[in-house]
Amino acid sequence: MSSSTGAPPPSTLRPTATPSLARARVAVACAAAACAAVACAAPDVPPPTSPKPIPDAAVSVMEIDAPNEQSTGVASDASAPDAAEIVATVADSAPPQPEVWLKGSTHVHARPSGDSTTPLPDVIAWYEANRYDFIVLTDHNRTTETQQGASLMVIPGIELTHNPSNCIPPGDKSGKCRIHVNLLGVTGKVDGKLVWANRKTQERLPKYEAALEVQKQLGGVAQINHPNWFWGMNGDLLAELARRGFRLVEIANAAFEKWNQGDKDHPSLDALWDQALVQGVTLWGIASDDAHDYEPSNSPTKYPAGGGWVVVKAQRTPQAILAALAAGRFYASNGVVLHRAEVDGDALVVEVAAGQRGSYLIDFIENGKRVERVKARSARRTLPATGYLRALVTRGDGTKAWVQPARR
Ligand SMILES: [Zn+2]
Ligand SMILES: [Zn+2]
Repeated sequence: MSSSTGAPPPSTLRPTATPSLARARVAVACAAAACAAVACAAPDVPPPTSPKPIPDAAVSVMEIDAPNEQSTGVASDASAPDAAEIVATVADSAPPQPEVWLKGSTHVHARPSGDSTTPLPDVIAWYEANRYDFIVLTDHNRTTETQQGASLMVIPGIELTHNPSNCIPPGDKSGKCRIHVNLLGVTGKVDGKLVWANRKTQERLPKYEAALEVQKQLGGVAQINHPNWFWGMNGDLLAELARRGFRLVEIANAAFEKWNQGDKDHPSLDALWDQALVQGVTLWGIASDDAHDYEPSNSPTKYPAGGGWVVVKAQRTPQAILAALAAGRFYASNGVVLHRAEVDGDALVVEVAAGQRGSYLIDFIENGKRVERVKARSARRTLPATGYLRALVTRGDGTKAWVQPARR
């Protein structure tokens, strides 16, 4: 959530066209000018807070990797309209719609991921049956062609995954390192499997930056996935990633509960998030299911659907949803349903939806410290003069809603 209304205007999401060899294919490590041109065609994505030169290491490594793979191309649309053209089109054609709460998942896998057996139509059926309004399809290193449900919006995305060993800063004794990034609302296409990683360094920061290089071509809002997996993330790195252009971070991936919580030697994701937020960065918290498994089953699966989601305040279009995600106009949840989660005047206001059962604790966290806890279904607290205020709503059964940080 944000008190700001400075989100990018809704715009026409270019339909992701069928990959074609006739399309212009650009190397993953494209020249800066070419990347910029493609980025212009992705109006849903806010620009990084601090534009930066392309790191040489990331570029050269991606060039090295590419020839070894069968299919590594990213198709760009040379005929894409420029941003001004898109804005003009939207201004002419967009019908006024009310903003409503829309439930969705920003981290969803289907069979093309390789580690899910469920075809996309069955994935869509699951989310429709469970009353979701949208999902972002984020198969591993590929932009799966989307299909739309009868009521469910399916937004194209990708999960960029890179699983090196012995990153810096180090993680646990296993040496495992997981650099996983979602791009939500991609407008570019990948032919087959994308090879993108920066293997020239063990440093986590340039490894994550390689994902931002892909973002320049594919578009989309950048989300850091399960950053505590095998440890190694810290607040300073998370803040730096936000400065470089990441807008979203998973603070509650349902498949990674142990890692979300932290332990005696490692901060929880809530704590890491606060460590980044106190540095003044913009970074919104995501709950997700990272769903791979949709079959009804009595035996627990590793990545079941439905364990975490976001509820976005937006018009019912993919463009508006992506803009709202980028601007923080949503809350994250793994059970709690809110009616209000917004800035009202100079205060942050939180209210549990009518008809929701259970007892509730509402915590207000101001600049990294809990400053108030009330047992109530609604609460309000004045924003601090400096820094941020966020709220965490916990139901008696332990499920939560994370209200996004708000600043004056
Ligand atoms: Zn992942
Ligand atoms: Zn995933």
